[in-house]
Amino acid sequence: MPASRQIATPPTLFVRATEVYIGQTLVPGDTAMSDKRHTKVLIIGSGPAGYTAAVYASRAMLEPILVQGIEPGGQLTTTTEVENWPGDTEVQGPDLMMRMEAHAKAVGTEIIGDIITSLDLSKRPFTATGDSGTIYTCDAVILATGARAKWLGIPSEEKFKGFGVSACATCDGFFYRGQEIVVVGGGNTAVEEALFLTNFASKVTLVHRRDTLRSEKILQDRLFKNPKIETLWDHEIVEVIGTEDPLGVEGVRAKHVKTGEITEIPCKGFFVAIGHAPASELVADQLETHMGGYVVTKPDSTATAIPGVFAAGDLTDHIYRQAVTSAGMGCMAALEAEKFIAELEAGASAEAAE
Ligand code: FAD
Ligand code: NAP
Repeated sequence: MPASRQIATPPTLFVRATEVYIGQTLVPGDTAMSDKRHTKVLIIGSGPAGYTAAVYASRAMLEPILVQGIEPGGQLTTTTEVENWPGDTEVQGPDLMMRMEAHAKAVGTEIIGDIITSLDLSKRPFTATGDSGTIYTCDAVILATGARAKWLGIPSEEKFKGFGVSACATCDGFFYRGQEIVVVGGGNTAVEEALFLTNFASKVTLVHRRDTLRSEKILQDRLFKNPKIETLWDHEIVEVIGTEDPLGVEGVRAKHVKTGEITEIPCKGFFVAIGHAPASELVADQLETHMGGYVVTKPDSTATAIPGVFAAGDLTDHIYRQAVTSAGMGCMAALEAEKFIAELEAGASAEAAE
C-alpha cells in the first residue's frame, strides 16, 4: 500500500500560502522563505464539517490551519435557499458558509486558499502537500473533504460538459433564460435544481429512473405544483445530443427502463443531479473505505484506524449527508483531536521527565 497518493488537480489557482499569510509558525530549521508549515491540527476542507472543526479546535487553543480546497465553503455554495439549518428559517447557502468562515477566522483559525494534492499518513507528523507548493505537517489531521457531484458516465455527457451539460444549477442556470432544460435525478438536489431553474427556463423536464422521488415531501409538493415542470418517470438518459460547431446541447434521449422505448426531449441545458460521491482520493489507499468510498470511522466517533486521523462530514457519512450532521461531526472531530493532542503532549512530557 503506497504511503501517499497523488490526486489530479486543476491548474494552479492559488498563490503560495506563504505569500498570502504572514506570521506563520515555521518548522525548526526552516528559513523564513520556506514553504513548510507545522500545526498541531490541520483541517482539510471548508464545508460545514471543516469550519465547525475549526471553531472548536481554535477555541481549544490548538491554533489550527484550515486548507479550503477548490470549493471554499463546500457544497452549500452551489445552492440558494437552505431551509433546515437550525436558527434560520431560510438562509442562502453561500451566506451561511461566509458566516461560518468568518466565525472560524474570528476565533483564530488560519484559513489558507490551497488544495491538498497528496497526504502521507504513514508516520507522524503527517505530511500534506499543497498545490501551492507548501508542505504542511501536523500532529493530527481532520479530513473534511466532503463529496462531489456524480456524473452519468456516458460519452456524450463528457463531450458537452461546460457546453450545455452542468451539475450546478446555481452556477449555470442563468445561461438558459427562456430555454428548455432537462434535469436528471430523483433526490433533494434534483428537485431543488428543477425548482430553481424555473426562474430562468421556459420549461423544465425532470427525468427519473423510477416512478417515485426520494426527495423530501415538502419539495415534492412544490415540484408537482409548479406549472413549468414536467416529470418523465421510469426513464434513464442514454445520450446527450447537440451541435458540433459551435458545441452545444440540443436535447437528450431517454430510454424507458421497462419497454426500452426512446423519447427525445429538446433542451438547451442538461443538469445532472444524481447524487454525490465522497472525495476520498487523498486517503483511499491509506484508510479503510466502504459503500463507494466513504471513509470508515470507529462507532460513535470520527477516529479512523490511524491514531490522530479523524474524518467528518459527507466524506464519512453515507446516510444523512446534511449540513447540520456534517457540522456535528466537525465538532466531534475537533474534540477528539484535542484529546489526542493532550495525550500526545502528556506522553512527551512524561518521556522528557524520565
Ligand atoms: P462539503 O460541503 O462537501 O465541503 C468539502 C470541502 O472540502 C470543500 O471546501 C472542498 O473545497 C474541500 N476539499 C475537497 N478536497 C480537498 C483537497 N484535496 N484539499 C483541500 N480541500 C479539499 N444540506 C442541508 O442540510 N440542507 C440543504 O438545504 C442542502 N442543500 C444542498 C443543495 C445542494 C445543491 C447540494 C449539492 C447539497 C446540499 N446539502 C444540503 C448537503 C450539504 O451541502 C452537505 O451535506 C454538506 O455541505 C457537507 O459538508 P462537508 O463539510 O462534509 O463537505
Ligand atoms: P441522493 O439523495 O443520493 O439522490 C440521487 C438521485 O439520483 C436518486 O433519486 C437516484 O435514483 C438518482 N440516481 C443515482 N444514480 C443515477 C444514475 N446513474 N442515473 C439516473 N439516476 C440516478 O443525492 P442528492 O439528491 O444529491 O442528495 C445528496 C444528499 O444531500 C442527501 O442526503 C440529501 O438529503 C442532501 N441534500 C439535502 C437538501 C435539503 O435538505 N434541502 C438538498 C440537497 C441535498 P434512485 O432514487 O432510484 O436511487
